[in-house]
Amino acid sequence: MNLLQKKASKLDNDDFLSQYRDEFYYPASSPIYLDGNSLGLMSKRAESSLIKSMNDWKTFAIDGWTEGTDPWLYYSETLSKLTAPLIGARESEVTVTGSITTNLHQLVASLYQPKGKRKKILTDELAFPTDVYVLESQLILHGEDPMESLIKVKSTDGHTLNEEDIIDQMNDDVCLILLPTVFYRSGQLLNINKLTKAAHDRGIIIGFDLAHSIGVVPHDLNHSECDFAVWCTYKYLNSGPGGVAGLFIHERHHGRVPGLTGWFGSDKTKQFDMAHTFTPANNASAYQLGTPHIFSMAPLLGSLEMFEEIGMKCVREKSLTLTSYLREAFEDLNKLDNKFIVITPYEDVRRGGHIAVTHPDAARICKDLKTKGVIPDYRAPNVIRFAPSPLYSSYDDLWQTYMILKNILENKTFERFSNERNIIA
Ligand SMILES: *Cc1c(COP(=O)(O)O)cnc(C)c1O
Repeated sequence: MNLLQKKASKLDNDDFLSQYRDEFYYPASSPIYLDGNSLGLMSKRAESSLIKSMNDWKTFAIDGWTEGTDPWLYYSETLSKLTAPLIGARESEVTVTGSITTNLHQLVASLYQPKGKRKKILTDELAFPTDVYVLESQLILHGEDPMESLIKVKSTDGHTLNEEDIIDQMNDDVCLILLPTVFYRSGQLLNINKLTKAAHDRGIIIGFDLAHSIGVVPHDLNHSECDFAVWCTYKYLNSGPGGVAGLFIHERHHGRVPGLTGWFGSDKTKQFDMAHTFTPANNASAYQLGTPHIFSMAPLLGSLEMFEEIGMKCVREKSLTLTSYLREAFEDLNKLDNKFIVITPYEDVRRGGHIAVTHPDAARICKDLKTKGVIPDYRAPNVIRFAPSPLYSSYDDLWQTYMILKNILENKTFERFSNERNIIA
């Protein structure tokens, strides 16, 4: 028996989360799903909570807003309560609403308050495009030229960023900083406490995009004192395509009127007074806009129940073991073809939930993997991301992936495919 195979079987035997595998549905054509950081799998509990909310509509019609076990009027608050422990926030600091893109617009509109020379926004050149688009349009709305006022910290290797390089750019003309917790390509995890402290020491507002860390890396946002955060729920939180997102705003900012206002941000006791004067909720709920998208929130309720049972400590522990196993598998594959480069940092404290590698034939290796029952994730021009989910991936999945990749390289079967990307990559 190969050493890696032996290791997989031992790890699977000791896996304290193995019972959760049966809670999920696997795509018929691809039993090995390693794309949980793009769209997590559907669980039976997510399916039931969605069906339940549809039944409430059937049974209660308009009264569904206040009747049933999970009334829609408080749905966002119910979900916020379950989300808070995942990120070390107080319940009052979280609201489940919108998408990353709209929530970023909301928070930047609320917290970006340029004064004199202090008017620049700092982000990084590896940022996800939508985050950059938001920052640019918010600057334009304030009459600023993004070419001049949006600073992007440069990466020295094209994959990762040095915290010191970010801190070096925290000058007294910077008003607000937005960074990811985990970089979507390389999987590098930034040191949130250190960056937040450095920003606050210099009087700068700082927020994070948790898209690639929520549900796989625990956070301590209240104690870290960062000002704001956003995340989506369809990646590691398995809420389904377009699942409603969330935002965090630190309690010291509560009680103000948000930059963008809407009636669902009202103090609930005043909302149905239908007054033209807006009375904001005195917590993160104030940042909601319109009527919540109940059917796009309902699957999250079932899914978060599992996270509540497991706790983020166990999730992270398994995730780190899965990703170190993957790293080892790539080191072994490199004995065949010395072309894989693992671009994810080695240390646990600098690694999120996935392993990313580069390879000159990345696009066609991914296509070949898909025909062989493995779903990875390709990012142009040459990155393959492997994102095992602590809830539904097994070590045997990773061992099988290793064997399939070995076969692909040995027989060069990827050469049957063109090395170009498909529309979703
Ligand atoms: C997935 C992702 C997004 C997506 O934003 P949506 O508004 O949900 O479409 C944004 N930022 C990052 C870093 C992401 O990984």
